[in-house]
Amino acid sequence: ELSAITILVPGKLHPRSVSRIGEAFRLVRLDKIDPTLITDELKQTVRGVAASPSLGDNSVSAAFMQALPKLEIVANFGVGYDGVDAAHAGKHGVMVTNTPDVLTEEVADTAIGLLINTVRELPRAEAWLRHGRWAKDGNYPLSRLTLRGRKAGIFGMGRIGLAIAQRLEAFGMTVAYHNRRRVEGLAYEYHETLAGLAGAVDTLISVAPGTASTQKAVNAAVLKALGPNGVFVNIGRGSTVDQDALIAALANGTIAAAGLDVFADEPNVPQALLDLPNATLLPHVGSASVHTRDGMADLVVDNLISWFGEGRALAPVPETVNVKAKS
Ligand code: NDP
Repeated sequence: ELSAITILVPGKLHPRSVSRIGEAFRLVRLDKIDPTLITDELKQTVRGVAASPSLGDNSVSAAFMQALPKLEIVANFGVGYDGVDAAHAGKHGVMVTNTPDVLTEEVADTAIGLLINTVRELPRAEAWLRHGRWAKDGNYPLSRLTLRGRKAGIFGMGRIGLAIAQRLEAFGMTVAYHNRRRVEGLAYEYHETLAGLAGAVDTLISVAPGTASTQKAVNAAVLKALGPNGVFVNIGRGSTVDQDALIAALANGTIAAAGLDVFADEPNVPQALLDLPNATLLPHVGSASVHTRDGMADLVVDNLISWFGEGRALAPVPETVNVKAKS
């Protein structure tokens, strides 16, 4: 009986996930993802966690999972699961699931919008109109940059990277990429290093996950290789960029412009970045439509229902693919 299984929702979660968990399971809530809030009753009953964690204090840490000895599964809201210690979960027989595919096209659309806004200055042009400057001062200045003739490099050619690449091709841009491994059967030019990719293109789009191996991968040397006509777009994770190096590169002309949906310490965006006219900034809205967030909310719950009902997760993360259901 699913209704006898206790699922803990610590912190904020999409209301559609919460209500569906409440209909199918025994739902308990906690204010925060905080191991010190876990009571003896929760220790004895919680078999699943559904959460939308971020980093640090708001993460599903090893300590949080250890505080729940009956825990079998953590259902993460989002395809990026850097807010869950999945390596710890995998070692201790806890399944971790995420929400791939249902957000791929939406995030790729956002990446393209952010790229065009960055290159053609469309948000600044709209602000010009809204502030009455079109009538007062005349036409908005011509954009220095154009997409025409650009060569794109994708850091993280996975599900979303491929959807971005297909859109860029339709725009007449050439595409190259860097992953740790070449993707079999993919015709785009492959680069074994990120710096090598940056040196071969003028438009670098990062959609790599936030992991130990991508930490500050986009550093001063990569930005220098991208060059003075270079445009950097980050739709992946803020942790993959040396944000101070990026601010310096934008300020001193090492690269031309950047479009960012993700930041090092969300929701805090440094004033130095806000002050840069060649930075186009979005508040982490990559997947943020009602349609796509509903799809993600459903997949969170469907992972739990499939795990406890059929003994298999719909979307296990790589670190936990071999974790087996208990009953
Ligand atoms: P995938 O797992 O399909 O793709 C990730 C790609 O990154 C893989 O091709 C992988 O290739 C590559 N990669 C991983 N680690 C490294 C590394 N150290 N060096 C080089 N390449 C690496 O994930 P998705 O495409 O579904 O999602 C990608 C990321 O996008 C998510 O993890 C999330 O952080 C972010 N995202 C952001 C959103 C937003 O709102 N801005 C919304 C949704 C996702 P390989 O393993 O061969 O290295």
